[in-house]
Amino acid sequence: MFLTISTTGTHERPATDLGFLLHKHPDKAQTFSTSHGTAHVLYPEASAERCTAALLLEIDPVALVRRGKGKGKGKGRGGAPDAALAQYVNDRPYAASSLLAVALSTVFKSALRGVCAARPERAAEPLPLRIEVPAVAARGGAELVRALFGPLGWTTVDVRPVVLDETFPAWGDSRYVQLVLEGELRLVDALRQLYVLLPVLDDAKHYWVAPDEVEKLLRAGDGWLAGHPERQLITNRYLNRRWSLTREATERLELVRLAEADDIGVEAIDNAVDDPAPDDEESGKAEKTEKAVSLADQRREAILTALRAAGAGSVLDLGCGQGQLVQALLKDVRFSKVVGVDVSVRALTVAARRLKTERMSERQAERVALIQGSLTYTDKRLKGYDAAVLSEVIEHLDLPRLPALEYAVFGTARPATVVVTTPNVEYNVRWETLPAGHVRHRDHRFEWTRAEFRAWADAVAARHGYAVRYVPVGPDDPEVGPPTQMAVFTIAATDTKKEEKAA
Ligand code: SAH
Repeated sequence: MFLTISTTGTHERPATDLGFLLHKHPDKAQTFSTSHGTAHVLYPEASAERCTAALLLEIDPVALVRRGKGKGKGKGRGGAPDAALAQYVNDRPYAASSLLAVALSTVFKSALRGVCAARPERAAEPLPLRIEVPAVAARGGAELVRALFGPLGWTTVDVRPVVLDETFPAWGDSRYVQLVLEGELRLVDALRQLYVLLPVLDDAKHYWVAPDEVEKLLRAGDGWLAGHPERQLITNRYLNRRWSLTREATERLELVRLAEADDIGVEAIDNAVDDPAPDDEESGKAEKTEKAVSLADQRREAILTALRAAGAGSVLDLGCGQGQLVQALLKDVRFSKVVGVDVSVRALTVAARRLKTERMSERQAERVALIQGSLTYTDKRLKGYDAAVLSEVIEHLDLPRLPALEYAVFGTARPATVVVTTPNVEYNVRWETLPAGHVRHRDHRFEWTRAEFRAWADAVAARHGYAVRYVPVGPDDPEVGPPTQMAVFTIAATDTKKEEKAA
């Protein structure tokens, strides 16, 4: 099995710097013995313009069986005779798998740590990379390979299924794919992705998963795993579905993600099209800003109208961001208590500055609070309010985390009214500046059609005893609907009575 890593360069920044970054000299072929065979590193080409390093791994199937002592792939214990033969005749020598990942970690140990004393600046910067693996064992096929590498910053993720047998095309594809990745990435990130994702795709880890595997996974996943849409699958498979380890990894990744969300929260603010950008000279951008300003205003107006109609006095703004809605709510004396909640400390800091909380009169200050919290955990502080707003928040959560938010808001906090807004993805074709198939913000984990939003909201209402109605926000296009969709949930009267009795 083998893998090549290529880069291009110039006279001043020669491609052969790859040798420094990998800690392997381009002029010689080197051999390393790994626990399962022999690894060779050689450079088929090494010029200032183009340099390719190849890692070739010769697996010794006998050593593999001896080492594994019957554990893992090809285990023949008590099996049929062909199962015993499978110990020796299997895909291990040919397909990139967890064994290649182990070889990567042995041969490119320093590169995987990102250290390079000779060329520190090159190690820290993205390089034009091309990585080729002719045969990747991929349970889940080409589609999963794309789902795993797709979100990781490569410009090209070329995945070709390898046919089972060229002479018998009718037999279809094998479970192997040819993989080519191209893009500008730091070498360390590319290596870490492969180190984690090759065994994940293989899904047949050959060695016993030890407790420090969680540590290894988090270290190798630094900077890309916590925000990966498939991080649950990656974690489950990498840790061989060992429940206790998976849970630990999931929880720790969630913390990392929250910390990252903190930064994203501010980026979301920086990029937020809520505030007009007066010095924006690009007319296209300015136009978009103008449209979006009015849309954000319209959204706030629609939310205020729904809250007034519900007769809400105390209101939670969940995922309040920069605090524009909190500010608007405070202007209306009907709202006696307004609480903004966000996971991002920096967003809350900006909100506090906007509201000038420090200079508020005591009475005004009593009306408002900004608290940090994550909406995917139940939180006692959110109980006892008349209404809650989730304005453009749900689409920032990974879909698998949405039930946790649903439980925290509708199941536990249970305000009488909940207002939820989210983009209507059908409308995206009407945004001139939005390329087809793109979401409106890079932190949006999903955007829903009207039918998808209704399916979710109807189910939530049914599960938690709410009635729900839908309100379009912005121009309601006859074909694609409005740019923002809003659901207003009202707790069913019988449920309120039941709760009063219980209380
Ligand atoms: N409600 C505002 C901001 C929307 S941006 C508006 O309508 O303009 C989404 C906000 O949700 C961000 O401020 C982000 O920090 C916050 N957020 C994302 N995930 C969250 C979570 N799990 N818990 C709390 N807030 C979260």
